[in-house]
Amino acid sequence: MIVLRAFKTELDLNNAQKTACARHAGAARYAYNWGLARKKEAFANGEKTLSAIDLHRELNALKKTELSWMYEVSKCAPQESLRDLDNAFAHFFRRVKEKKAGKKVKAGFPRFKSKKNGMGSFCLTGAIHVSDKSIQLPCLGLLRLKECNYLPMSGVQILSATVSEKAGRWFVSLQVEMEISDPSPEPKPVAGVDLGINRMAQVSDGMYFENPRALKGALTKLKRLQRVVSRRQKGSANRKKAVRQLAKAHFRVANIRKDALHQATTSLTKTKSAIVMETLNVSGMLKNHHLAQAIADVGMYEFRRQLVYKAEWYGCEVLLADRFFPSTKRCSQCGHEKEMSLSEREYRCEREDCQKVIDRDLNAAINLEQLLYR
Ligand SMILES: [Zn+2]
Repeated sequence: MIVLRAFKTELDLNNAQKTACARHAGAARYAYNWGLARKKEAFANGEKTLSAIDLHRELNALKKTELSWMYEVSKCAPQESLRDLDNAFAHFFRRVKEKKAGKKVKAGFPRFKSKKNGMGSFCLTGAIHVSDKSIQLPCLGLLRLKECNYLPMSGVQILSATVSEKAGRWFVSLQVEMEISDPSPEPKPVAGVDLGINRMAQVSDGMYFENPRALKGALTKLKRLQRVVSRRQKGSANRKKAVRQLAKAHFRVANIRKDALHQATTSLTKTKSAIVMETLNVSGMLKNHHLAQAIADVGMYEFRRQLVYKAEWYGCEVLLADRFFPSTKRCSQCGHEKEMSLSEREYRCEREDCQKVIDRDLNAAINLEQLLYR
């Protein structure tokens, strides 16, 4: 089976390389914004819709005159960016259709990219070579990697590389096509999975995945930095500095969490034939200001995202329980339902003839698994 995969890792850049990357990201952003403005203009004038190819041709003509600085960057960066813009419009039109069909979605017209959220990113295609300690990219040359031997060096076809900046660090994400062995036909058990704050994931067979230890420390630091930001005066240099530190801390928490989620989702999709998890309550999530809960919510999204694509690789099925399914309130032994406060760590069944006592998360996981038998 041939699958698409992305491998993302951090780059170790010197100052000249950082400048070159920033310039590429700048060109990509410029092309995107210019293309968006051109599309809007064409629409306002009643001209025909401009495709990525039309825009690319126009941009190339401009490069000969007013945009000569673009010759300093790989031609891929603006080109891929215009393709991105096309995709953004395709998604926009899809959402408009969904909205007309009665779905609750925001159409979200494509927006201009701002430098406010960091340098951004750019995508390169063409001659890309990977070695154990570095990656060679068109125009940028040999870039060192912080982690050795993570990017695949053989057995894959490299499609493109996306370079991006986050909280002052640079990353490369390699998109590849690779052959993986077909999922084994041997029977595997099914499982319900409950995601929580205290424990990252509880499986219905009793196994669980703890939150990584580093997470707690990183969260404490995050809270402290959040307080620092709110104490600093708006617009001051000190506030800007604190905001930068906070972004770094957020990023670290997200990374720790993501790594742990990867381990859990790989293990689960490899060993189970079907997995049931809760549907995420999006409207409830947006209201939540409690930090640990907010992080857990983000984790849930990431967990589901990873689970769904890995499930395809390893021949596992992912099912989502109904949003109103009472996985926490229901007794997994007799089906009785009762209210559960957040602080109750154990489910104690009230029914005389049952009186089941079981860990709260395990109870929920078993309830989710039982959905498969109905
Ligand atoms: Zn019971």
